[in-house]
Amino acid sequence: MSETLLESSFAISGTFIHSTITSPLVILSDHCIGVISGKIVFIQKNDNKINDVLEKYNIDVGNIICLKGLQFVIPGFVDTHIHAPQYSNCGKCLDEDMLSWLHKYTFPTEAKFADLDFATKQYWKVVSRVVKNGTTTASYFGTIHTNSTLKLCDVIQSIGQRGIVGKVNMNRNSPDYYKENTTISVQETKRYVQEVVMRKYTLIRPCITPRYAGNCCMGLMKQLGQIARSNEIHVQTHIAETTEECDMVRKHFPENESYLDIYNEAGLLTRKTVLAHGIYLTPEDRKLIRERNCGISHCPNSNISIRSGMLDVRACLDDNISVGLGTDISGGYSPSILDAMRTAIFTSNTIALHKGPNYKPLDYQDVFRLATLGGAKVLDMEDHIGNFEVGKAFDALLVDPCVDGGPIDVFREDTMEDIIQKFIFLGDDRNILSVFVAGNDILENFVRQISSPNDGI
Ligand SMILES: [Zn+2]
Repeated sequence: MSETLLESSFAISGTFIHSTITSPLVILSDHCIGVISGKIVFIQKNDNKINDVLEKYNIDVGNIICLKGLQFVIPGFVDTHIHAPQYSNCGKCLDEDMLSWLHKYTFPTEAKFADLDFATKQYWKVVSRVVKNGTTTASYFGTIHTNSTLKLCDVIQSIGQRGIVGKVNMNRNSPDYYKENTTISVQETKRYVQEVVMRKYTLIRPCITPRYAGNCCMGLMKQLGQIARSNEIHVQTHIAETTEECDMVRKHFPENESYLDIYNEAGLLTRKTVLAHGIYLTPEDRKLIRERNCGISHCPNSNISIRSGMLDVRACLDDNISVGLGTDISGGYSPSILDAMRTAIFTSNTIALHKGPNYKPLDYQDVFRLATLGGAKVLDMEDHIGNFEVGKAFDALLVDPCVDGGPIDVFREDTMEDIIQKFIFLGDDRNILSVFVAGNDILENFVRQISSPNDGI
């Protein structure tokens, strides 16, 4: 897919903080990053060579953004698992366990998205909200409705966010008002993928999205696997989120060796596959996930809020499994990846309390990497986004820890490490002044002008 081709070229000068494969937190003080047509063309220390570099890339002084005070720039956040149609339930409906929650709250809410006007207004709300919170790339579940999921793509493209977007498939174990038959489900999925390709979105990729094995029969999943592989597109689904769900799925597929084996038989496991949750996987399952190069989306707020369980992320990382963070709206009540970082640490610390002193819980540097480069890897986009490297897209957040009326107090003795740590634990959307996607400040250009929190519904 091509990027948004911006003619503009500019540079940003100041402090940059990002992760690399070898280090979860790298601070580049007094550096300058050059961006042309949305891509990073140089990363240069502000030394006596900087003027030559600026001249080489034809960037004049008027096109340099100089960061002020303690401002810094970080890579944009990657939300590897979010249900856009569930946003209106964010912050409520958390009194049921997952399977009951689906039937009582989620299916009735998602069924309303057959109405395109309703869907459009709801999708503006959710995409605007997650962009304000610094999410530059998100992997979205839509609903079973093809046209309203295409509306979601339109909204994401209009706002300028980067998205992987899937029309949901479900042909069993859901109410009649929110279910497809196998033939329609396959036909509509093919139509959805063709339509996304035809519309030539610059920032959006289609995704095959069987809700989970409990909602899809093997015949449907095999055909979906075929569509995913023949088009080389992403797959997203849920796995091993709760023990009740694992028991239910195993009853439906007694022939399969494990939950993951169901998806494997269907041909749904590729390096572009995002598996949400994965709390109750067996060691053999984890081995297969690594072999297939699938990624796991860790959604800690959701896992605690609807009491699903706790994923041992440290064990996954030790097994060389790719892990990113997800909000899982609205099982998770927060649209913010900053919240996902904090709840990932809380979950990890809780596991550490049980495992004892030799267990190494996740720290703020670990979750910073999961939220950026880790998420990019889970989405098989790490060659393209996730940190600051020449040739990658400039997807980034300009953060001001000292914004007036903001949530952070910085003290004289605070180092840059202290300040990024305070931002991770205390920061919110007030601290995020710019949200760049492919070099385009979408917060400035779109969200503030088009949408206010209370209009539209
Ligand atoms: Zn989910």
